[in-house]
Amino acid sequence: MAEFMKAMVLRDGGGGVELRDVPIPEPGPGQVRIKVNACGVCRTDLHVVDGDLSKPLPNVIPGHEVVGTVDALGPGGATAHGLVIGDRVGVPWLGHTCGQCDYCRDHRENLCDAPGFTGYTLNGGYAEYCVADAQYVFPLPGGYDDPHAAPLLCAGLIGYRSWAMVRDAKVLGLYGFGAAAHIIAQVAIAKGVEIHAFTSPGDIQAQDFARDLGAAWAGGSDEAPVKPLDAAIIFAPVGALVPAALRAVRKGGTVVCAGIHMSDIPSFPYSILWEERVVRSVANLTRADGDEFMALAAEVPIETHVRPYRLARAEQALADLREGRLTGAAVLIP
Ligand SMILES: [Zn+2]
Ligand SMILES: [Zn+2]
Repeated sequence: MAEFMKAMVLRDGGGGVELRDVPIPEPGPGQVRIKVNACGVCRTDLHVVDGDLSKPLPNVIPGHEVVGTVDALGPGGATAHGLVIGDRVGVPWLGHTCGQCDYCRDHRENLCDAPGFTGYTLNGGYAEYCVADAQYVFPLPGGYDDPHAAPLLCAGLIGYRSWAMVRDAKVLGLYGFGAAAHIIAQVAIAKGVEIHAFTSPGDIQAQDFARDLGAAWAGGSDEAPVKPLDAAIIFAPVGALVPAALRAVRKGGTVVCAGIHMSDIPSFPYSILWEERVVRSVANLTRADGDEFMALAAEVPIETHVRPYRLARAEQALADLREGRLTGAAVLIP
């Protein structure tokens, strides 16, 4: 007879999550089961819950910033990373890749043709337990307790992959100063980068937050930069920021769109793209990104700002994120 656990699942037909008792999952071959200690709430969860991303697993358990303890191994026992029961690990968005397609074979598994995504096409961490493919589970650095480690798993990782695209920038603009920006700003500042933070116009709280973390300048996204930017990363899901950021970067500058979903980009004059400016997106992560970023997180002590919520209050956490009432990251505690 199966034992049961508490989980927040996507409602039938979408539109929010609800608390249910569901069977505790059993790990299959190559999988581990994790007792969840904390799970971050990411903007992508909002896109899953709000139906911006099509075809989630029916009644999926969202959550792809999972921190927990390995509590069971699949049949055969042996796992990637040599995981053993009791190890503290994290589970990110990329939960599976095929290993066969052109992208996988070309070390671009983030673009795999047949991927599995935690908390979207695979059950995630808004629960007391989850199972994960052991190859896509990361050992976590010390120095972070469970809630503070959770935002590293997506906000940190996607921020890192975005920043890696513009690593040579000495003056970097960040549009949207939430969970991802507050992490990567600290990493970039530690590496000598000058950060200019652009928030929603009038969001004084977010601007103060950015300055407290060491941003050289913070203001509204409707403001021109005080000096030309070498590059910009857009974390807010607002298409109108693309032309705004293009106007703010200097010749040859790159604008990185870091989100999985964005409102339509308004048309803009070619002159703001001219002179070898680049607009690009960042999709998902690779396991190599995970290993590199976790090493960096061990080296640069990153102060993650979190607001804990009980698991059953996931809808409140999602609403607070949707309405922009958070500084830092919401984290669910089962
Ligand atoms: Zn593949
Ligand atoms: Zn995410």
